Amino acid sequence: FQERIDVPAANDEMSQLMAMFNEMMDEIEHSFRQQKQFIEDASHELRTPIAILEGHLSLLKRWGKHNPEILEESLEAAVQEVYRLKKLVLELLDLSHAEALTIPAELQPTSPKEAAEQIVKNFRVLHPSVQFQIIDEAGEKARVHVAKHHLEQLLLILLDNAVKYSQQEKVITIDIKEEGKYVSISVRDKGIGIPRDELEKVFLRFYRVDKERSREKGGVGLGLAIAKEIVDKYGGQIVMESEVGVGTTVELFLPKAKSKE
Ligand code: ADP
Repeated sequence: FQERIDVPAANDEMSQLMAMFNEMMDEIEHSFRQQKQFIEDASHELRTPIAILEGHLSLLKRWGKHNPEILEESLEAAVQEVYRLKKLVLELLDLSHAEALTIPAELQPTSPKEAAEQIVKNFRVLHPSVQFQIIDEAGEKARVHVAKHHLEQLLLILLDNAVKYSQQEKVITIDIKEEGKYVSISVRDKGIGIPRDELEKVFLRFYRVDKERSREKGGVGLGLAIAKEIVDKYGGQIVMESEVGVGTTVELFLPKAKSKE
């Protein structure tokens, strides 16, 4: 990838072509470097639970038969790490699917309110101590040009984070409103918040503000990267606002469905 063409100073078609070729080479090189970094990071993330699992299994092999305490603790830890590995692999697959996504021009439009209600219904069962509310200003007729399962996947990621990073005051609000050619769907929590200088980085793959806390809560640092990938593919935007100790709002701008849909 070292090869580049020396572009002559002349501003003719040939020089422009050569310059374009160099730019293309830069892009390809950049993309390869990113791919390599991703594989390194993913391997690292996979290595950690595997190493922990290995440790507990050898403890079990050595002491498990005679020491019920070790048996119980190590089995519990091993089950947890297997769960983690499974989650990591499933999220890597989600990311890969999101990357390969192509959006058909025609698709069944989705009601943001219905999708939010469906997801909130499931969350209420899983998290009875959390208060969820939906404020719909867009109206019953609002539809987004996003497949239903993708909208549900987005809401799931955002609500999951809102629950994970809430502390005492577990109040989570979903606001739906129209914003020009978009429908805005925001998920607001009163949780721990994110420091200003880290706000942009949370969309990076495997990035976690507090690795230990995220790990404790079963996070692998891919949720927002997957969400961003999906939103970008649909031509939308994802915006994060947060204040430490006050809370976080993640706002999705999704294209409105054309009225004939
Ligand atoms: P994770 O699986 O770790 O939750 P995400 O990609 O979903 O990964 O989020 C990346 C990081 O952004 C999290 O580890 C957490 O530090 C931070 N984060 C995401 N959502 C919130 C939120 N609602 N409140 C506070 N921090 C958040």
